[in-house]
Amino acid sequence: MLNVTLLGSGGGMPMPDRFLSSLLIKFASRKILIDCGEGTQVAMRKYKSGFKSLDIICLTHDHGDHIFGLPGLLSTIGNSGRTDPITIMGPVGIKRIIEGMMVAIPFLPFDLDIVECTGSSFSIHMVSQKLRVKKTYLETNDNKVNDNNYYNIADNNISTNDTDNTSLVLSILELDHSSPCLGYSFYLPRRPKFNPEKALEAKIPVKYWSRLQKGQVVMDNKRTYHPSMVRGKERKGIKLSYIVDTRPTADIPDFIHESDLFICEGTYGDSDDMKKAIKNKHMTFAESAQLASLGKTKELWLTHFSPAMDKPEQYMDNARQIFVKTVLGYDGLSKSLQFPES
Ligand SMILES: [Zn+2]
Ligand SMILES: [Zn+2]
Repeated sequence: MLNVTLLGSGGGMPMPDRFLSSLLIKFASRKILIDCGEGTQVAMRKYKSGFKSLDIICLTHDHGDHIFGLPGLLSTIGNSGRTDPITIMGPVGIKRIIEGMMVAIPFLPFDLDIVECTGSSFSIHMVSQKLRVKKTYLETNDNKVNDNNYYNIADNNISTNDTDNTSLVLSILELDHSSPCLGYSFYLPRRPKFNPEKALEAKIPVKYWSRLQKGQVVMDNKRTYHPSMVRGKERKGIKLSYIVDTRPTADIPDFIHESDLFICEGTYGDSDDMKKAIKNKHMTFAESAQLASLGKTKELWLTHFSPAMDKPEQYMDNARQIFVKTVLGYDGLSKSLQFPES
């Protein structure tokens, strides 16, 4: 299950009644934050998220409305007693900027792992009760596991290949903004159902069933057993995508394909503001809705509203005429994304 809270829905600058656009994701009792504009820690406090369990911060780009809250938030986390490292991800160039900010907060009680992303794919694993990011080099489907993913009876080498309940697949997309900017998508795979008939037919010893169902490969002196030998057909997992500060690009629909929730910028509600959207490298509501539709997403939340737009709700028809399941984002909007029944 993924729990998401839109901490803010504004772009440009924080307003008295609108925090800057950022998203908090709760996963397996830990937290991931996307973007950290000025005031994000106030929003976190307002929506009672807590600070200590924040393990990963994904930054879309280096504009102030997405990063100026970082030194303050990190200081507060330091005061919360955290000593475990925090991973910060962002586009190439972000390391130098974060290190510059760190001059103002030199005595943090935890390390920062800064990852500059270049369109790679990552996975997020639970390690010692904390979320950690790992670059993925290979497919981890049942027949393509490397030595580290084996559970070997002989040497008792326990694998970490149970990817479906304790790990997320994180994908990155380069966007089209006035500064290098990344889109993020999170996929929580769902374990296929256990199929006892299949296991019996393949003569798999019962003592291995549970490990195989959990995704581990098991070897004994006679055979190597793969999870596919006891599992039924694949089931769709949960997908969440987050795209802000960009013009529409040809890659976005594929990247967000079949997202259960697609959170996207709508800097301008009025379609007559298209010239501004093109000049400032942002989108109108209609353009975001078009992407949601092309990507066959289930639901769209609009966010990152221009400070000049007092009442974004008056433009909602521009989006809903194109994509009915559009929701106007607001500070504190929250949803729990769960696997469907079956
Ligand atoms: Zn912005
Ligand atoms: Zn920007």
